[in-house]
Amino acid sequence: TTELRRLESLRRDFVANVSHELKTPLSSIKAYAETLLDGALDDRQASITFVERIMEQADRLHHLILDMLSLARIESAQQVFEIVPVSIQETVDECVANQRPAAEAKRIELTAEPQQPGCLVRADKEGLREILDNLVDNAIKYTPEGGRVVVRWRSTADGKMASLEVEDTGIGISADELSRVFERFYRVDKARSRELGGTGLGLAIVKHLAQSFGGGVSAESESGRGSRFTVELPLA
Ligand code: ADP
Repeated sequence: TTELRRLESLRRDFVANVSHELKTPLSSIKAYAETLLDGALDDRQASITFVERIMEQADRLHHLILDMLSLARIESAQQVFEIVPVSIQETVDECVANQRPAAEAKRIELTAEPQQPGCLVRADKEGLREILDNLVDNAIKYTPEGGRVVVRWRSTADGKMASLEVEDTGIGISADELSRVFERFYRVDKARSRELGGTGLGLAIVKHLAQSFGGGVSAESESGRGSRFTVELPLA
């Protein structure tokens, strides 16, 4: 019964969290629509601005729902993964090319520094891509202009796993918050995360994906000095 009660309370928390997350963008959409009906429609320039805000909020809702669906599929083991040998180098190269414009826009130096270029892991290719995209996207989001983001990888001492790190010189995370960042919807600074288009689900997705592939994830950080997220995956 204690386990049942615990699960029931987790479910309640999740529903409360989701409702809260949906409420904020919906209230904005409603407020903009009301303003338009209240007369802003007659002002062409203002109308365009309000409709653009409605679009932004709708995009946020869309992103949130996609993240929730993705997490639910991974957790319920409904997601069918194709576990094959995947080259870390190729996946990192694709991710870095994809994120380069976002890094350049903030004058952040984004580099891949393989310590073992030929490393192959047992994973689903798209899943590994999603892990990396989430970690590099966060590293860029939470690093101020002029910083550095480095992706590196090597096999672990016992020769069984590959260790893949994403390190940044960003705002960092304090010790008491660090243990919570992998929780669903947990964000150190809600307002800042929202402003940057965050959903609070990225790291929960990373954790569940890594576990589905027989690996895990950990983080080290120091407030104001940067963070390092490490994913371990079985070598192929
Ligand atoms: P979000 O969509 O808010 O980025 P995540 O689950 O990806 O959600 O991350 C949860 C929280 O962890 C973020 O809101 C942020 O406070 C913190 N965080 C994640 N990555 C970093 C990082 N590289 N540097 C500093 N803080 C981070």
